[in-house]
Amino acid sequence: METIILKRFDSPVEANIVKGFLESNDLFCFLQDEHSIGMNPLYSNALGGIKLMVRAEDEERAIDLLSSSAMDYKAHNTCPQCGSQDIHFITEKKNKANWFSIFLSLLLGSPMYVKKKYECSICKNVFESE
Ligand SMILES: [Zn+2]
Repeated sequence: METIILKRFDSPVEANIVKGFLESNDLFCFLQDEHSIGMNPLYSNALGGIKLMVRAEDEERAIDLLSSSAMDYKAHNTCPQCGSQDIHFITEKKNKANWFSIFLSLLLGSPMYVKKKYECSICKNVFESE
C-alpha cells in the first residue's frame, strides 16, 4: 500500500481533528510522528511536523473533502436577505464546541466554536449561521 503525506501539522490536536474528519467520511488515514512531537514539540521541526498520511489513491478525494468543507462554510456566509457577502459577525458563546466547528476554525483560522450572528452591512439584516 502506497501512502502519501496529505498535510503537515505542528499540533497533535489539529492533526487529530482533520484525521477524525476524514475518517468520518470513511477515508483511511493515519498520523506519523504524532507521539514524538506530542511529547516534545521541539521535535516538530526536526521531524517535519506531524504528517497526515493517506493512501495514494485517496489523495484526490481527501483534498476534495477538505476543500468542500471550507466551501460549504463560505457558501453559508452570505446575507440570506440580499445575498451580499459584505457581512460582519457578532459572537455569542456556545456551550458546546463540536469537532466539526473546531475543525473549521482551524482550517479557516477563525473561531467557529462560538455561535455566530451576522449582520449584513448592506441591508442591516441580522441572521445566524448554521
Ligand atoms: Zn443583506
